[in-house]
Amino acid sequence: MNDLLNLQEKLMNSKATWEDFSYILKMQKKDVIKLLPFAHKIKIKNFGTTLKIFMPGKKFPAISITGSECKLQCEHCNKKYLHGMKGVTNPEELGQYLFSLWKNGGIGALISGGCEEDGSVPLYDYLDTIKEIKEKTTLVINTHTGILNEPTAKKLAEAKIDIVSFDINTDESVIKDIYHLNKDVKDYEYAIKLLQKYNIFIVPHVCVGLYYGKLHEELGAIKFIKKHLGNPQLIVVIVLIPPKSSKIKFLTPNPIDVVKVLIILRFVFPSTEIALGCMRPKIKEKERLEKLSIRAGLNRIVLPSRKTISWIKNYYGDTHLKYFSACCALPQKHEYLIAEPLPENIKKILTTRS
Ligand code: SF4
Repeated sequence: MNDLLNLQEKLMNSKATWEDFSYILKMQKKDVIKLLPFAHKIKIKNFGTTLKIFMPGKKFPAISITGSECKLQCEHCNKKYLHGMKGVTNPEELGQYLFSLWKNGGIGALISGGCEEDGSVPLYDYLDTIKEIKEKTTLVINTHTGILNEPTAKKLAEAKIDIVSFDINTDESVIKDIYHLNKDVKDYEYAIKLLQKYNIFIVPHVCVGLYYGKLHEELGAIKFIKKHLGNPQLIVVIVLIPPKSSKIKFLTPNPIDVVKVLIILRFVFPSTEIALGCMRPKIKEKERLEKLSIRAGLNRIVLPSRKTISWIKNYYGDTHLKYFSACCALPQKHEYLIAEPLPENIKKILTTRS
C-alpha cells in the first residue's frame, strides 16, 4: 500500500496521528486534492448537506471601542481592520448605538477594538452597558477580548456575552515579531482557562499564514484547541491579508495551504463545525479558495462570491443552503431565532441556468 492510500485509510478510521497531520502540511497539491472527497464525506456523514452562509452586514455590524487606536500596531494589521469598523468610543454611546440597532431590526454586533500593550482589548468599562443591553434586547453579542484578565472574564460572564472570538496563537515568533507582544503560549492558555472558568462560549479562530504568509505553526494552534477545548462546537479559519504598509514582506497565503489546514481540522474535529471567516484576501484566487474549502467539508462560509454559489448548485446540487445576517461565530442555539429566507440575489443564482 502506498503512503497516500495508507494515510487515507488512517484518516477514515480515525487512526491518524499528529505526525500524519504534519505530513499533510508538506504534501504536494495533487495529493492534497485527493484527500478532499474523504474530508467532504466526513462532513456529510456528521452534518448532512447543509452549508450555512453568513453575511454580517448592517444587521451585525463590527464596532471598535477604541476607534482607530491600537497600541500594538501588529505588522499584519497596522490598524487597517479598525478603520473598517464603526468607532464607538464611550459606554453611553455604545448603549445608544446598540439599542437603536436592535430597534431597527439588528441581530447583534461584534464588539472589538485595538489592543493595549498587554494584548487585551479594553472591554471592561463597556461591560455594564452591554449587560443592560443584553437585558433589554435580543441582540447576540460577539466580542474580541484578546488576552484578558480575571476581572474582565468575570464581567463578560455577568454581562451574558454570547461569544468570545479568540485568536489561537502558539507561534512564538508571530507573537513577538508580528504581534509585538511580550507574551507566550502560557498567556494564551491562561486566557482560555479564565473563559472556561466563567463558562463563556469560546469560538477559536485559527489564522492561516500569519508567519509572513507561509504555513508555520498552524498545527500547533490545532493541537492547542484539541488539548484545551476538546471538541468545540465551532472553529473559524481566517486567512492573512498581506499588509501593504509593513516594511516586512508578506506573501499571499496559497489557497492549497489554507485547504491543508481545513482538511486537518475536518479530521481532528469530525463533529465540530468549521467556518471560513470574513478575513481572507480578495485575490483572484478567492473563488478557488472558497470552492476548495467547501470540498474540504466546510460547514459555514462568510460572504461567498456569486460564482461560488453558482458552482455549489452544479457541483453539489443537493446542498441545503441556510442564510444568516450575522457573524459566522453564531452559536447553534441562536440559529433558529434568526434564520432568514435566502435573499433574492442568491435565489436568482440558484435558479439561473448555467
Ligand atoms: S470571522 Fe466570523 S466571527 Fe470572526 S469577525 Fe468574521 S464573521 Fe465575525
